[in-house]
Amino acid sequence: MAKDYYAILGVEKNASDEDIKKAFRKLALKYHPDKNPGDKNAEEKFKEINEAYQVLSDPQKRAQYDQFGTVDFNGQGGFGGFDASGFGGFEGFSDIFGDIFGDFFGGRRQKHGPQRGADLEYNLDLTFEEAAFGVKKDIEIFRYESCEKCHGTGAKPGTSPKACPKCNGTGQIKIQRNTPFGSFINVTTCDRCYGEGRIIETPCPDCSGKGKIRKKKIISINIPAGVDTGNTIPLRGEGEKGLKGGPPGDLYINIRVKPHKLFQRKGFDIICETPVSFIKAILGGEITIPTLEGQEKYTISPGTQPGTIIKLKGKGITRIRGTGRGDLFVELKVEIPKKLTDKQKELLQKLAVEFGEDIKESKKSFVDKFKDAFGG
Ligand SMILES: [Zn+2]
Ligand SMILES: [Zn+2]
Repeated sequence: MAKDYYAILGVEKNASDEDIKKAFRKLALKYHPDKNPGDKNAEEKFKEINEAYQVLSDPQKRAQYDQFGTVDFNGQGGFGGFDASGFGGFEGFSDIFGDIFGDFFGGRRQKHGPQRGADLEYNLDLTFEEAAFGVKKDIEIFRYESCEKCHGTGAKPGTSPKACPKCNGTGQIKIQRNTPFGSFINVTTCDRCYGEGRIIETPCPDCSGKGKIRKKKIISINIPAGVDTGNTIPLRGEGEKGLKGGPPGDLYINIRVKPHKLFQRKGFDIICETPVSFIKAILGGEITIPTLEGQEKYTISPGTQPGTIIKLKGKGITRIRGTGRGDLFVELKVEIPKKLTDKQKELLQKLAVEFGEDIKESKKSFVDKFKDAFGG
């Protein structure tokens, strides 16, 4: 089911953003519907490479895809809305490419100022107990780290980036056009340095001149007691590093709590059921109740009714913003034996007589019942 977006774009798993962009650009130009009119296969292929690019070009989605092999978590995390069929209309080459390549050709994005790093998102599955008591978790994320070899410059140690000769370090190229209506100066992003204003002649071998390397990073998180599905824990500054002195993004931990075999959660209260023999329900006595801390003894009074709910105060979940814990509610399920030995049956029949219950009633024939009802 899961598509291999890296294979679709023909790039390695550790491909840089630039490699991905280049690979996409090449494929998109090849399979663009405008270039392949009426070719359904090309259209499908174009959609597929678009989908792959949408995911791999977004650090957040890429990280999620790397970790889970998908970016679609039923809408959770906000990635569910991606719709490849949205390209169905194909509004024309320039429209689509204007959007996709905006920052590649047009310099739509501010290249020179500081840029805040992208936010990352991580879905963390916890057991019921981990969520109830809190837990320390080490999670693995992929994010760009400054290259240690070149200290983020991208230039091979011992060399340094130099001003782009094509644009003289401005990142922009001015082209004068002479037309019958006068001359115009057209400013475009420099295609040699992609607007950076500097070029690296001898790239750092570790990061191939990017100044950053996509690395697996282990982050320890203290999950507080009481979290529940839908809670998000923000870790400030743990997202992608910023560019050009910009601040780093944040990492958002989305909590997902797995269901428990016995317990159900309602806010900070816990609900569960426990079986009680009919003898104990009648005579009273000690029963065993499951709690988060393990089994606990509890004494029920004689004549306890089926469906009785026992409340154990403070045995629920720790209130995440507040004090104390919720309560535990245990519903008693009185069990009626399905099989009896002859001896048990005999004793129960005697008991029935003692209670004045006519147990033979049900054994009466239809004719007898008819006589009872209508006389005769
Ligand atoms: Zn480097
Ligand atoms: Zn340049």
